[in-house]
Amino acid sequence: MAAVWHITAMPAPRPTILVVEDEAAIAETIVYALRTEGFEPLWLTTGHEALAALDRQSVTLVVLDVGLPDMNGFDVCRELRQRHTVPVIFLTARSGEVDKIVGLELGADDYLAKPFSPRELTARVRAVLRRTNANRVGAVTSPAAVTVWTHDEARCRISYRGKMLDLTRNEYRLLGALLASPGRVFNRDQLMAAAWDDPGAAMDRTVDAHIKTLRAKLHAAAPDADPIVTHRGLGYSLREEA
Ligand code: CA
Repeated sequence: MAAVWHITAMPAPRPTILVVEDEAAIAETIVYALRTEGFEPLWLTTGHEALAALDRQSVTLVVLDVGLPDMNGFDVCRELRQRHTVPVIFLTARSGEVDKIVGLELGADDYLAKPFSPRELTARVRAVLRRTNANRVGAVTSPAAVTVWTHDEARCRISYRGKMLDLTRNEYRLLGALLASPGRVFNRDQLMAAAWDDPGAAMDRTVDAHIKTLRAKLHAAAPDADPIVTHRGLGYSLREEA
């Protein structure tokens, strides 16, 4: 008797997209479009439900309406940024909301003004995922599976332990240089060359001053951590975190 083999192809897991939108008609359109494009949509209508879901399961991207019944999308984003680096696309109904998204530096990855077409939304979702996957260099993760460092080079942004850092241009370039080679000791000249267009004009102490403000910002993001190491007489390095 011939053996019969059932070969089942394992489909690639569909990325879960959390849709937080209280208007059913809009949500249904989004859910349908995402499903058609190969995503696994998860639709919730309140901010609290969304935050609970993010703590419970892994989500690839969040589509977040600003006007929610229980709390506004800005607060939801602020709260989720304390614990997650998941990309966020805001849905806005008023132009004033766009100014807020940009001005508050909430760590949003994109926004879409209503009304929008389903195609536009799925295109944005794909674009954000391409961008964040390409730039997610934080291969080192903590036990809590929170990415330690995320460096989005296209947008010149760095997040530490899930928190987006609000950096000046020189701080960003300084940290970017350290981040490119964790553990490597950089002397002041090397850091100056990496972070200043005209290193000759800057004084040696400028590096120290910027390291100081960087440390303060990192401390604010993660009070228990001190990722920049001082090597007396040599320079600075970034602690290799596991
Ligand atoms: Ca709404």
